[in-house]
Amino acid sequence: RIGTAALAVQVVGSNWPKPHYTLLVTGLCRFQILQLLKEKPYPVAEVQQLDRLEQFTNGHKSEEELGELSEQFYKYAVQLVEMLDMSVPAVAKLRRLLDNLPREALPDILTSIIRTTNQEKLQILDAVRLEERFKMTIPLLVRQIEGLKLLQKTRKSKQDDDKRIVAIRPNRRISHGSITEDEEEEEDHDDVVMLEKKIRTSSMSEQALKVCLKEIKRLKKMPQSMPEYALTRNYLELMVELPWNKSTKDRLEIRAARIVLDNDHYAMEKLKKRVLEYLAVRQLKNNLKGPILCFVGPPGVGKTSVGRSIAKTLGREFHRIALGGVCDQSDIRGHRRTYVGSMPGRIINGLKTVGVNNPVFLLDEVDKLAKSLQGDPAAALLEVLDPEQNHSFTDHYLNVAFDLSQVLFIATANTTATIPPALLDRMEVIQVPGYTQEEKIEIAHRHLIPKQLELHGLTPQQIQIPQVTTLGIITRYTREAGVRALDRKLGAICRAVAVKVAEGQHREAKPDRAELGEGEDCKEHVTEDAKPESISDTADLALPPEMPILIDFHALKDILGPPMYDMEVSERLNQPGVAIGLAWTPLGGEIMFVEASRMDGEGQLTLTGQLGDVMKESAHLAISWLRSNAKRYQLTNASGSFDLLDNTDIHLHFPAGAVTKDGPSAGVTIVTCLASLFSGRLVCSDVAMTGEITLRGLVLPVGGIKDKVLAAHRAGLKRIIIPQRNEKDLEEIAAPVRQELTFVLAACLDEVLNAAFDGGFAGKARLEHLNSKL
Ligand code: ADP
Repeated sequence: RIGTAALAVQVVGSNWPKPHYTLLVTGLCRFQILQLLKEKPYPVAEVQQLDRLEQFTNGHKSEEELGELSEQFYKYAVQLVEMLDMSVPAVAKLRRLLDNLPREALPDILTSIIRTTNQEKLQILDAVRLEERFKMTIPLLVRQIEGLKLLQKTRKSKQDDDKRIVAIRPNRRISHGSITEDEEEEEDHDDVVMLEKKIRTSSMSEQALKVCLKEIKRLKKMPQSMPEYALTRNYLELMVELPWNKSTKDRLEIRAARIVLDNDHYAMEKLKKRVLEYLAVRQLKNNLKGPILCFVGPPGVGKTSVGRSIAKTLGREFHRIALGGVCDQSDIRGHRRTYVGSMPGRIINGLKTVGVNNPVFLLDEVDKLAKSLQGDPAAALLEVLDPEQNHSFTDHYLNVAFDLSQVLFIATANTTATIPPALLDRMEVIQVPGYTQEEKIEIAHRHLIPKQLELHGLTPQQIQIPQVTTLGIITRYTREAGVRALDRKLGAICRAVAVKVAEGQHREAKPDRAELGEGEDCKEHVTEDAKPESISDTADLALPPEMPILIDFHALKDILGPPMYDMEVSERLNQPGVAIGLAWTPLGGEIMFVEASRMDGEGQLTLTGQLGDVMKESAHLAISWLRSNAKRYQLTNASGSFDLLDNTDIHLHFPAGAVTKDGPSAGVTIVTCLASLFSGRLVCSDVAMTGEITLRGLVLPVGGIKDKVLAAHRAGLKRIIIPQRNEKDLEEIAAPVRQELTFVLAACLDEVLNAAFDGGFAGKARLEHLNSKL
């Protein structure tokens, strides 16, 4: 019931690596609790001051009685302090304090300095009467002195400064009770010694070693309660752990590399070829200086997994650094150690994780780096990626150079448009286009399905997915350039089958039919494939356990729900004023229905669908061209006039309305769509188109042809109108896809319109036109 009143002087704290606070208080006096008023949220009590009162009341009397005791205490205290090293400023100050302070304050002060257990300290706090307090502290002082003597005897020969400071707490083991804290401290001290040893034996650079030794010297002198202690220690531990000189041995053999790449990935010939070239040069030249490879393509086309395969072929460690959304340059280069919570950057962290200095680092999504007030991370990456600079990469946290020249960097991105030019300049871009349906089927059956089966603990004896089903998933449940959604859908199927299989195993005695019966699909397949007889007698029908579950379209519908995409685009083209364009996005190509309508008005053009400036200009161009050619094509507005905008408003819409779109390549589509609107004729439903237009009606080349063609193929379209000057891009398209499509190469809008409408568009009109000239 006795406590100490104190005044909080300072609170210091930090949240890193774990929350800890240090409270600095000045003790005022002892008090006794008379009555506890409330306990929550913090105790409030009525108290009575217990000491420091005698000075004001009967000080003289007590001095007389205590004289002898305090004199004795003072003598011991002086003896103890003089055994210490007086050259240490703190000790000298203590010696002066002994003389200056009032004697009755000494027991409290000295017990806080000498080695005592917590229990002993509490006992002294409890000793309210001065006499009692002196009596209790004297034995502690004597104990300390004896301990010190003993220690000095044993350590005489190898005394040094540091140890003398440590010597003030020698005989902790004499007291029993709460010694855990002391043990901890001792352990910590041992740790520091160990750490020093590790630093000295580690293979770090000379510069780093110098810094570390300096830091460890500071650490030894630092009290553990200081927030900086933990920081410094973490720093040193990181320095020791970093692979300064540790590397794996490259086992590069081009033939083996080719086999690994082929085994891991189907298709993507161009990419594999370029990677092999890159590796071959590395093998011949035996160093890594050279451009950084950057794989650019839609998501899920295997960019990351090729990176992993490269690491595998080289026998190197692999580490992926996700850069998407990183907007702080210290994410790359670390924080300065002066900040609380400072950390090394991702590069150094990655090196620590892999534990060698020559891993393969995959810088994922470099196109999604962002800028912010905290600096530009792309600029920080420049230093990392530049072979001329990165042998002395300096992380702010480490503050010493680390050699990154052995690290093999590979970058991935969805588009090059958002990669800062300086960064792009240091990389060699390899385009990874999307896959065709045939390629996807092969990838699914060679790689994805076996992988998913293994993940779900299934065997080919338990589930079978025929190729038509895979094609069904690709066309009706996914619409993507890569194979990630396909992979997920296959995962969903495996999960559903896993339930059936697991249930089947539990109830082997019971008919399997019941378990498989929820979806009519399964019933059907059971009846078809397993036992054609006795459809109605379900209770007796037992599916042989070795019979695999066949995934057919019914099963697909049951597991994945109704199809998300239908192949039928023709429905949307059943009225004039709709045409199909092809767009390129970072996620691959896409088809786009451009819609137009007209109404009475004052000749205004409304554009919706979040269009960029370039696209708006394309729309104006298209209208102007059609207006100037209205007579030639016999295009009229609702009232039969060749002035198309006379008393007419036009509205053009580009779905999906929420996605921002820009670029010139929709020009031909807009012209076709408007031509259909004004002529009242339907655009062929199997035609898609792309191309930039000019005011004179020429069709100019555009980019992303391969992705666009693949998208049209995915959507089941048959004819594609592309600018004539894009003909060379068709070579990149796989032969099976090319065979299924008809390409119309258009140099001017006449040709586009002729191809887009059944039976041609301009032929007749032009004849008339020419006739009139004759
Ligand atoms: P990205 O990094 O391009 O977004 P990932 O490398 O993560 O895509 O690929 C997604 C998944 O698709 C991975 O499981 C990968 O194994 C698989 N995959 C992609 N392309 C192929 C391919 N050509 N052959 C085999 N698997 C592939």
